[in-house]
Amino acid sequence: MSYRTRFAPSPTGPLHLGHAFSAMVAARRAEVAGGQFLLRIEDIDQSRARPAWEAQIDEDLTWLGLDWPRPVMRQSQRLPAYRAALQQLWDMGLLYPCACTRRDIAEAVSAPQEGAEPAHGPDGLVYPGTCRPALPPTGPLPDAVLRLDMDRALERACRHEGLYFTETGKGPHGESGARPIARRRMIDKVGDVVLARQGMGTSYHLSVVVDDAAQGITEVVRGQDLFDATPIHALLQRLLGLPAPLYHHHRLIRDDEGKRLAKRDDARAIRLYRDEGKTPADILKMIGLARR
Ligand code: GLU
Repeated sequence: MSYRTRFAPSPTGPLHLGHAFSAMVAARRAEVAGGQFLLRIEDIDQSRARPAWEAQIDEDLTWLGLDWPRPVMRQSQRLPAYRAALQQLWDMGLLYPCACTRRDIAEAVSAPQEGAEPAHGPDGLVYPGTCRPALPPTGPLPDAVLRLDMDRALERACRHEGLYFTETGKGPHGESGARPIARRRMIDKVGDVVLARQGMGTSYHLSVVVDDAAQGITEVVRGQDLFDATPIHALLQRLLGLPAPLYHHHRLIRDDEGKRLAKRDDARAIRLYRDEGKTPADILKMIGLARR
């Protein structure tokens, strides 16, 4: 299969140097492999996504010299595909509706329990299991917040073969190669993740997995901040019978104080550098990707 990767920004703010780095690394890996670089717009959070930001993403990436096939995949148009994936997991008895608020969860995990510190996973506090039923729920797939029963999901996914993903870059602690996914760690440190969020009908984890498969992505290139989410993605691929891409996590671009650039960090927006008269070559130099 020929190489295919993607850059998948959320149109909720301006692109900054960290995004430019991620998009350039992905595009260059596609170029070296003689493959394809795609753009995907991750706009499932319609309360925050704006067409103006999407237009800006297109403009900034084009200015940087990148090109990709059009029209692009836009997650807000993919809800039936996400619903079908949820239906599949529901039919396997791996999902359950959850009515807890953030506050309920915070209160439940802060209740004194033998001095144990509440665990934090890739999505924040590990869910204490308040709404988890003893038996898989039956009936039609509800239009509700849905969580994955992690224990049951792992049991199902690992019946014949252990779970792992393949890292072609480096995790935050230099992790590379085949990365085994330990069941105990997933239960204790990740927990029952939300796969359908309030008012969204999907979640980042579910959409990204369904779409990487639909787009035939062979290698996911993204920042090390998403390294800890990758075991969840590998698990969902196994459960949904989807191919597992390679993962290439790259270093993060940090500001002068060593803090990761957030989207809110408008001072580093590509747009502002452009307005100041910087060239694409200047940007590449700033992110350590200047061609010799
Ligand atoms: N949409 C995600 C973000 O903007 C990236 C998703 C991914 O690369 O897996 O952080």
